[in-house]
Amino acid sequence: MDEILKKRGSILVKDVIVNKKRSNVFIGENGKIEELGEDVGTKFQNKAEFVIEGKSAYALPGFVNTHTHAAMTLLRGYADDMQLQPWLSDKIWPLEAHLTAEDVYSGTRLACIEMIASGTTTFNDMYFFMDAAARAVDETGIRATLAHGFIDLSIKEKLESEIVATENFVRSIKSRNNPRIKAAVGPHAIYTVSEVGLRWCSEFAKNEEICIHIHLSETEGEVNDSVKAKGKRPPEVLNDCGILTDKTIAAHCCWLNIEECSLLAKKGTHVAHNPVSNMKLAVNKAMPYQWLKNAKTNVTLGTDGCASNNNLDMIEEMKFAALLQKFASNDPTILPADEVLKMGSAAGASALGMGATSIAVGQPADIILIDPEVPMNTPIHNPVSNLVYSCNGSVVRTTICDGRVLMLDRIIPNEQEIRDEAKISAKSLVERTLI
Ligand SMILES: [Zn+2]
Repeated sequence: MDEILKKRGSILVKDVIVNKKRSNVFIGENGKIEELGEDVGTKFQNKAEFVIEGKSAYALPGFVNTHTHAAMTLLRGYADDMQLQPWLSDKIWPLEAHLTAEDVYSGTRLACIEMIASGTTTFNDMYFFMDAAARAVDETGIRATLAHGFIDLSIKEKLESEIVATENFVRSIKSRNNPRIKAAVGPHAIYTVSEVGLRWCSEFAKNEEICIHIHLSETEGEVNDSVKAKGKRPPEVLNDCGILTDKTIAAHCCWLNIEECSLLAKKGTHVAHNPVSNMKLAVNKAMPYQWLKNAKTNVTLGTDGCASNNNLDMIEEMKFAALLQKFASNDPTILPADEVLKMGSAAGASALGMGATSIAVGQPADIILIDPEVPMNTPIHNPVSNLVYSCNGSVVRTTICDGRVLMLDRIIPNEQEIRDEAKISAKSLVERTLI
């Protein structure tokens, strides 16, 4: 295997297109972009430890997937074409009840290499056994914000154990001292977490200065149940409990009204749009992008877990986002390609406060190279339009995160071993569930 995939070192990426200009990128050992420009190639030719021949590839900041349950890769294709409630209660939850830390480790490792292979360099995850997920992230070299999925079901003992689990997890992530891995607080949703639990999560996140990751207004039922039980719609419940902050990422947000879009903007809360999951589970309403945009809410993009997607391909997700918004608003000018590209990258990086927002000097070297020499990317009248509407994750040739090459010319170290292990975990998980 190529040395560059085994260790860190300064890298010269030659002959790539950055912001429409032919350029060369020099990445220092500190994982940051140190120089950028036409003459950088000759200047660093002999100084860089490694050289990557870009061959006119388009260099972009890596994608940022702001809503995932990474280890659900093990459930890929296990249950499809079902109604949301029976899908959850008859298929997903019984399987999840048998999950072990080792399953989460192998499922998250698989997710990480799938993301690397499709150009994602940062993800925002919520699941169980998150220390095992952190181990997977650490080893595969990607960036992640990880949250223990906090679910108390209004049961006092469960509330107490979730508090302890969250405190322990955040402490454990902080003690890793790995700048690529951050902890977040993950109250699952208003229908699974009590108001006492939500208030605790808000206070804890504030004290720890970390993000909050939550599901919000995914279905009409969630909104109606909230109004019936609490006399308030979900965003108001979250606001009253202190959950809507400028460090909060709210996933789905399909059933927001126009006032709620302004409320999220006022609070600086970020939205994770999950078009594939929403369409697959037929939630019957598209996230109101135009209202959110008019209110100046930061809208980011996420795939959701592999049980409801069924992959982690952010290029596909960008296309679905653009198409869903056009279809739902009956307006083909809504969410154009360059806007959805930012949604899938820079918007997510600024929401999470990690990763690269652009390819520029001083930015973290989270860089992907898009292959211009493949059929689905030929001809190139408009590279951004091609990327969003013609391509999928297979056009990513090389992925660099934090200045380390994680995939070179589509080779990812240990891919075979990681896939083999995930197959064994998935098979044994289903067998345990069916006993
Ligand atoms: Zn989710």
